[in-house]
Amino acid sequence: MFKLVEIKVLEKDDKNIRLIIQGVDVPFMNALRRAIISEVPVMAIDDVVIIDNSSILQDEIIAHRLGLIPLKTDLDGYNLPEECPCKSEFGCNLCRVTLTLDVEAREGTRTVYSGDLASENPNIVPVSDKIPIIKLAKGQRLKFETYARLGRGKNHAKWQPVSMCAYKYFPKIEISSEKCDACGKCVEICPRRVLVKKEKSIEIHDLMACTICKDCVDACPQKPPAISIGWEENTFIFGLESTGALPPERIITEAIKILDKQLMELENRVKGEKSEGD
Ligand code: SF4
Ligand code: SF4
Ligand SMILES: [Zn+2]
Repeated sequence: MFKLVEIKVLEKDDKNIRLIIQGVDVPFMNALRRAIISEVPVMAIDDVVIIDNSSILQDEIIAHRLGLIPLKTDLDGYNLPEECPCKSEFGCNLCRVTLTLDVEAREGTRTVYSGDLASENPNIVPVSDKIPIIKLAKGQRLKFETYARLGRGKNHAKWQPVSMCAYKYFPKIEISSEKCDACGKCVEICPRRVLVKKEKSIEIHDLMACTICKDCVDACPQKPPAISIGWEENTFIFGLESTGALPPERIITEAIKILDKQLMELENRVKGEKSEGD
């Protein structure tokens, strides 16, 4: 039978989103999480041409640091290199953005920040100006040109759109008013402050914070325990933190589009196989 999926937004800002997703199962949540982490493309610096480096760090270490700076991504304005009509290893202005840097420590020691990178596209810039790249001593200079491209997390972690993406079961807590004598032991032991003690009863203060650790059940002196902890089978609390490359809701919608496309491809292949075998 067709089941409706219900989604409730618990919180959302420009980097984080937390949802309750109802009517799905663990394989779906895993597929969504994996699509987000490894398939949703974002921009990252991929090639670095060092023109001058008199700092104490080797070119390779600087290049590695540059790759890990999250860049604001314009998914609609650029092609993935493998899908770009240019078919060029070097890229074109539809699949590559150039960022340059030229800093010399003239007055004294100077920290070079992500904000010192100059981009040819004002929409493709580091998500923060305050990411340190290197410290230059007086007289040292760093000059380079870099090329950022869209890529996927499955090829390198620098292309992951999220710094966190996780889900957990929706907890279910039941307290038997007949057996519970409000001793408060479960309240004291709970590491997440989920429960509160009222005069003659225990109440649930923050259900969403429960990690289903069951410490409260073990602490209950009643035999059998007056408190029981479980979870809803098809309801999950899902959260992600964007690196800032894309808004969190765009990351989710892109992942769903990718899953949809993959399923269509699977269906077409199965149909193709079937007709070949007929
Ligand atoms: S299961 Fe763990 S987190 Fe949840 S209420 Fe009990 S002690 Fe607290
Ligand atoms: S530990 Fe058990 S008996 Fe004591 S307050 Fe909690 S549920 Fe009630
Ligand atoms: Zn191109």
